Amino acid sequence: MIEGFISLRFLDILDILLVAFLMYQIFLVIKGSVAINIFVVIFSVYLFWQLVEALEMDLLSTILGQFMGVGLIALIIVFQQELRRFLLMIGTRDFFSRSFSVEQIFYKNRKSLSDKEVDEIVKSCVNMSATRTGALIVLTTRAEPGPVIESGDVINSKVSGRLIESIFFKNSPLHDGAIVIFNRKIVAARCVLPLSKTTDLPAHMGLRHRAAKGMTENYHSLVLTVSEETGSISIFEPTSHQYNINSQVLRSKLENWYGINEQKKEEASQTGNPLANVFRKF
Ligand code: ATP
Ligand code: MG
Repeated sequence: MIEGFISLRFLDILDILLVAFLMYQIFLVIKGSVAINIFVVIFSVYLFWQLVEALEMDLLSTILGQFMGVGLIALIIVFQQELRRFLLMIGTRDFFSRSFSVEQIFYKNRKSLSDKEVDEIVKSCVNMSATRTGALIVLTTRAEPGPVIESGDVINSKVSGRLIESIFFKNSPLHDGAIVIFNRKIVAARCVLPLSKTTDLPAHMGLRHRAAKGMTENYHSLVLTVSEETGSISIFEPTSHQYNINSQVLRSKLENWYGINEQKKEEASQTGNPLANVFRKF
């Protein structure tokens, strides 16, 4: 405890650090969206209200107090998308350490893609990139994005590179829209994805990329795009995106998403552990 002009307890320092951390996370989420202007205005009004209250200007502080009360509900409505993104972000692997991720606690038994299936996806993206075939591929691990699947045609087939390429082949009746891969199946094609409202996508990117971003904002998903115009492959994750990636990056991102490396490590440690071998026999 530091005593002086003002007293400062350890908990006060913790309080300030937590608020700073929270503000920084909020800033990361709303950065690039038009919502940042609204956030700045509301935050300024809040600071002004606190000042007015400290100066005991009762009338103005009552009016501003009422405004802030209603403002909280308005805030939830205005920041609906951002709040959703923030909550999604908290549940992702990168936010806390891996061992604490929601993924590992609740979704451990979801069927992950095999090495070979990841290979098939990577190969198909590389081929489509070379032929400038536009593609939009959604990969979900937790739950089927029901409304998105209902907007398309159900396929329910095994994950195969050749099938992915023929779906997105320009003259194919299924090439428009996105495919959804869940539980080791290509569940549906021609799916319509929700569009993102953010403004931080490069100007030359159109609806395909906006839809990919919108999907990650609304559902816990990883989305791959192949641009018809440039042939570049991009990846959209719950909290980030990367343009024009090569096949190695794509593969490692997919392996990461499906926890394939962790599985391999776990298997290796089990095979190296004689006790685990004994237990596996029972
Ligand atoms: P590209 O680089 O391939 O041209 P782009 O980002 O410029 O991509 P557009 O040229 O507008 O985007 O791409 C249009 C294609 O994207 C459509 O033919 C359609 O298949 C797909 N698409 C657009 N919007 C959606 C959506 N909301 N859901 C699913 N697919 C969509
Ligand atoms: Mg385009």
